[in-house]
Amino acid sequence: MKASMRKIETILALVFLAAFSFQPLARAQGMSVARPSGPVVTGKVYAFEKIAEGVYYTTSESPMATGGNHTIIVGDQNVFLVDSGTTPAAGRALLEDMKLITDKPVRWVVNTHFHFDHTDGNSIFGPEVEIIGQEYVRHAIADLDVLHREPFKTAMANMPIQVEALKKQIADEKDSARRVNLEKQLAAKQADWEEFKNLKPTPPNVTYSSKMTIFQGQREIQLLFLGRGHTPGDTIVYLPKERIVCSGDMMETQPAYMGDAIFDEWLATLDKLKEMDFATMLPGHGVPFHEKSLITAYQSYLKDLMAQVAALRKQGVSADDAAKRVDMTSHKSDFPQIQGPGAEVRGIRRMYEWMDERSR
Ligand SMILES: [Zn+2]
Repeated sequence: MKASMRKIETILALVFLAAFSFQPLARAQGMSVARPSGPVVTGKVYAFEKIAEGVYYTTSESPMATGGNHTIIVGDQNVFLVDSGTTPAAGRALLEDMKLITDKPVRWVVNTHFHFDHTDGNSIFGPEVEIIGQEYVRHAIADLDVLHREPFKTAMANMPIQVEALKKQIADEKDSARRVNLEKQLAAKQADWEEFKNLKPTPPNVTYSSKMTIFQGQREIQLLFLGRGHTPGDTIVYLPKERIVCSGDMMETQPAYMGDAIFDEWLATLDKLKEMDFATMLPGHGVPFHEKSLITAYQSYLKDLMAQVAALRKQGVSADDAAKRVDMTSHKSDFPQIQGPGAEVRGIRRMYEWMDERSR
């Protein structure tokens, strides 16, 4: 009984990890949230939703790993791209599908933060493209051996597990149509794995510290570092005239990965995000949204998680056990991805570490 419970727990933990590691998260989110949307053009891998004149937001339902959602800002001469995709193949697929909405070349790419699902398409761009990041992003990619640390480490370790699971599912599947679908998923997963093995983390070739403004013809594009939070160096992209904010993973429409978080500063940075004059927020994962109240809801999620973890830590509970025991289901109406008790373990380990740092 106990062993089988543990097995179920392990499976659940893997499923949870998988969901947070490399699945296109827009998929789950898109199904759970009803929302008004603009016209959509669908390519082979990416769908492009028109948000404003020349501004598009991508989601993907492809079995290929695609990482964070992009915002694409098309000017008269060139394109400004938010994030570069999770692999070179994903980046190339994006450029290919982008031909459906523009024939202009990419001139600027901003990396909203250093995580692989936003930066590992960087290597496909030539020196004529300015890849911009807050200065921490360059430091992280250049100096922190990102292929051997989280969040990439777990994503890579899960690849063979996922390939084996798909192979087993295919062997057990009696329905031929479903088997064909699973075989497509397996082929995509094996291709992702090959991409992961050959990644060349490429740091930004332009950095800034607190603010940078780009003029794309008449359009003003601001890159803002509002403070640490989700990581030590997240960029918020702001179009003041269009009142559009690209929030990266500082604010998603689902609980974000927390493995590099500075939790107290995250709350303060979210306050600054709320002070901005925006009509639409385009997150790094999830779907576009308009309500500042969702940011407040995320702040209360973080505060609640910190309080629960602090209490468990005080009782001497380990980080890994705390990750199983926290119960965030009271936030389910704001974040329907929360299916039951527990939280992503790397985020809770980081929270313990952060609490240790703060108590020194
Ligand atoms: Zn991300």
